[in-house]
Amino acid sequence: MKRYGNFIDGVMDFDGEEEVLYSPADGRQIAVITKANYEKAKEAIDSAEHTFKNVWSSISLQRRRQLLLRLSEIVQERSDEYALLESLNTGKTLRQSMFMDIPLGIEHISYFAEKAEFRDSREIEHPEYPGTKGIVQYLPLGVVAAIAPWNVPFLMAVWKIAPALLAGNTVVLKPSHYTPLTALELAEDAKKAGFPDGVLNVVVGDGSTVGNALIESEKVNHVSFTGSTRTGKEVMMKSSSSFKKITLELGGKSPNIVFDDADLNRAAKGILFGIYLNSGQLCESGSRLLVQSDIKNKLMEKIRYYMARMRAGNPTDMETDISAITTQEQRNKIIEIVERSKDKGADVLYSKEISGKVPEKGIFYPPTLLDNVSSDMDAAREEIFGPVLAVMEFKDEDEAVRIANDTDYGLAAGVWSKDIEKANRVANRILAGTIWINEYHLLSAAAPRGGFKKSGIGRELGLEGILEMTQTRHIFINESGTDLSDVAYALVVNE
Ligand code: NAD
Repeated sequence: MKRYGNFIDGVMDFDGEEEVLYSPADGRQIAVITKANYEKAKEAIDSAEHTFKNVWSSISLQRRRQLLLRLSEIVQERSDEYALLESLNTGKTLRQSMFMDIPLGIEHISYFAEKAEFRDSREIEHPEYPGTKGIVQYLPLGVVAAIAPWNVPFLMAVWKIAPALLAGNTVVLKPSHYTPLTALELAEDAKKAGFPDGVLNVVVGDGSTVGNALIESEKVNHVSFTGSTRTGKEVMMKSSSSFKKITLELGGKSPNIVFDDADLNRAAKGILFGIYLNSGQLCESGSRLLVQSDIKNKLMEKIRYYMARMRAGNPTDMETDISAITTQEQRNKIIEIVERSKDKGADVLYSKEISGKVPEKGIFYPPTLLDNVSSDMDAAREEIFGPVLAVMEFKDEDEAVRIANDTDYGLAAGVWSKDIEKANRVANRILAGTIWINEYHLLSAAAPRGGFKKSGIGRELGLEGILEMTQTRHIFINESGTDLSDVAYALVVNE
């Protein structure tokens, strides 16, 4: 069993309290980690700050791209190891890790290395002042502290690290202490790729100690946080005292809207993919199904047909379709919200039988359909973050939009219709950062992602995501020697 330290200044630092990690897939011991404390987090910040000032800030954008590309190649060579580790640590199916999370993460690193349209400066003209020019520079901020949740740890590490490093920052990443393993592997591989020591540091620990140390530090210039809306609020308040830039990627309660002219078979598959991928533990999970009344029965029949075929088993078996729940606390939360909604009148339309098929020591919750959910129930308002689909009905376009927007969140939505004009019209009325039309969940490194309303501030990925990690400087040059006296000096200078 591998022992992991905190990755600080280019070395695994084993100084700290050890903790054994168990797999939520089947309860096996998978690794020993070392928890950081407040002081350790400060050491990591010091390393990142020192390296930024003395080493990394003089490394060119081209060189940073080369290093990222090398990192993607190294991870690619070990992709099977990463996939297994990710599955064991989170409980997600090995098929998901092998065919989605890990290859997508690798592709995203190479996207930032090779394709991202980021340039670190551009020239502008000043229309007001002929004969002058401007240079706008996109400069790194310095030390970026990245705080990540437990659900997609590898992808999350990539999304936090690659744009920040490309933009020229150094990073201290705090993965969730439940699922830190692939982020720690990534840090070791970054060193192998040639990143200087101190450019990427990973500290593992609780939010209240290590997370706090990162947020409060005057040496940290940007906090890139992904997690719950509740914690995001705290991060925002605590970061304000030192005027840090922040990016918040928070929770969601995303609607998947199916109109009666949709391809129902595709829609049924998309809805299942939208809610049961990763057992619903994805911020963008399509956890509210909004279905047009006249096709409800037909659609539910199709959904149940596919649910009956989903295979429960050990998530590390390649045939298994159902992911475990990553923590016992999360499973308890799912149970509580479902029970509260049942008390208020929601009905369990279907709950997949998984007992006896899943490992005894694993943590599981059966894929569940909750019917007769009304907008005032917790199942419609609270992020369950589990394999529970709340089913609601609508009569027409206006009602669909009204229910879709009747939420504090605004992260994502899906619209299913063969009438693309209508789908576009609906998409344009939904207050959310990502809308899929006849699709769900597909993420691109080229596209910014993030939330409206209480789903967040700022964007991750895409050019917008890189620019979040920069500060601009404008240099105004009068290289032609043009006399600007008419528009400027003559206001105060008389010759
Ligand atoms: P969480 O908010 O409990 O924790 C997220 C991270 O913050 C963890 O690393 C945690 O240790 C740390 N943390 C906790 N308290 C802290 C504090 N006081 N100060 C600083 N850091 C602190 O979230 P979670 O349970 O790990 O993850 C699930 C949540 O993440 C869900 O709400 C989900 O929607 C959200 N999420 C959002 C996105 C997105 O891109 N919008 C992606 C994935 C997950």
